[in-house]
Amino acid sequence: MTGVPAELRSQVEALKAEVAALHAELPRNNLVVWTAGNVSARVAGADLLVIKPSGVSYDELTADSMVVCDLDGNLVEGTRSPSSDTAAHAYVYKHMPHVGGVVHTHSDYATAWAARREPIPCVLTMIADEFGGDIPIGPFALIGDDSIGRGIVETLTNSRSRAVLMANHGPFTIGSDARDAVKAAVMVEDVARTVHLSRQLGQPVPIAPSDIDRLFDRYQNVYGQGSSK
Ligand SMILES: [Zn+2]
Repeated sequence: MTGVPAELRSQVEALKAEVAALHAELPRNNLVVWTAGNVSARVAGADLLVIKPSGVSYDELTADSMVVCDLDGNLVEGTRSPSSDTAAHAYVYKHMPHVGGVVHTHSDYATAWAARREPIPCVLTMIADEFGGDIPIGPFALIGDDSIGRGIVETLTNSRSRAVLMANHGPFTIGSDARDAVKAAVMVEDVARTVHLSRQLGQPVPIAPSDIDRLFDRYQNVYGQGSSK
């Protein structure tokens, strides 16, 4: 391990505290059971990320227990092994330079759509605002190499969505920072649930593409004020 460069120390410590605190949002928003979910943040100005260690319960996640990895998923700092999803997070940071945060969960409703390999259709203004269209399905990919990361990047590069439902697996979300990616994870579960409920009584009506464009542009550029939304 080469360690964290001294000039990045204060940034890394701040990110560890932020990422630890954001993990508490996952059970709070009913997005995870047991330890199946993770949040990471890019260390700006370095090829590093901060993520949770593998297999530690959410109650025991402290800033000090967070680990630092390089963008190949190798451990750079930490006493525990990194989350088993670290390779996927690292691949996203390596190939999507604008991404500052990544979240993965198996939240119930979003994962139910993933199990059917069915995109969530853009039938709510909230979906147009947040995701700019249908929430896409990514390829089926097994853990162990870079195929999950590659599937996320390929799907999101061709979409305005900040969320991808990996086939038969669950949602991955990206954001300008870790908090923004957590927000996307909460939002994708919320709309997955609402569209599911709507389906119980009939066929939800799609929003016209021109209206989706208008909603997305307004929300991203005017209402949201960039990353502060
Ligand atoms: Zn998973």
